[in-house]
Amino acid sequence: MKEALIHGKSKIVYQNHGHNENGSDTSLIIKFTDAITAGNGAKKADIAGKGRLNAEISQILFEYLADFGGIASHFIQAVGDGEMLVKQAEIIPIEVIVRNTAAGGFSRKYGVAEGTALDNVIIEFCRKSDELGDPMMNESQITAIGLASVAELDEMRRQALRINEVLLQLFSHANIRLVDFKLEFGRCGGQIILCDEISPDSCRLWDAETGERLDKDRFRHDLGDVLKGYQEVLDRLQYARYF
Ligand code: 5GP
Repeated sequence: MKEALIHGKSKIVYQNHGHNENGSDTSLIIKFTDAITAGNGAKKADIAGKGRLNAEISQILFEYLADFGGIASHFIQAVGDGEMLVKQAEIIPIEVIVRNTAAGGFSRKYGVAEGTALDNVIIEFCRKSDELGDPMMNESQITAIGLASVAELDEMRRQALRINEVLLQLFSHANIRLVDFKLEFGRCGGQIILCDEISPDSCRLWDAETGERLDKDRFRHDLGDVLKGYQEVLDRLQYARYF
């Protein structure tokens, strides 16, 4: 029986019971589930097939970032329908949000119309905490309570900007506007590596021509057929990655 280590809102993490040459294996299996939530869990549903799509999209993005961006991540390999084998890492409890275009929380908080282009890329750090509603934190607040060091925050910012550069290029080949996204990082073997997922659950992705939402905003705002948007992202990435 596989025993869940973590049962998250849209993913389940299991210990992998395989063995490496040392007779032990610390890798983990992440299962992407069909559960979808919004508003910090206030709105919930199951969308059959979503987990598989997110796993495939995340895999393409992790592989692309490694190959073309030199970005190390926890991804090792796909292992089954909607599952991936990953390195174990100590997750840094900070969500790193990257914004190229005003939308969502930024538009609401600062009164900037959705879709407004930004003069520079925005990086935000938020505390990863459902109970607290993922509040934004500045660097001195983060270091003051020991969530991450200055050097780690610098490294997370550097990688986030690099990831943005590489993904902007990939998504432009897919005719998709990369509006914003959320990243998580972990400590692994003395390095900071990219963890979690990058998928339409954690990004805003708009069709570059029509502005059609292809991401979780379809669920948040009842825009209809959530799966169709995610499938469209996967289909376009499958050819854009070879551009
Ligand atoms: P916002 O701050 O505008 O709500 O979110 C900015 C971006 O980060 C969006 O693409 C959103 O999907 C992603 N994001 C922010 N917080 C979370 C979170 O807790 N979980 C996930 N999956 N994505 C998030």
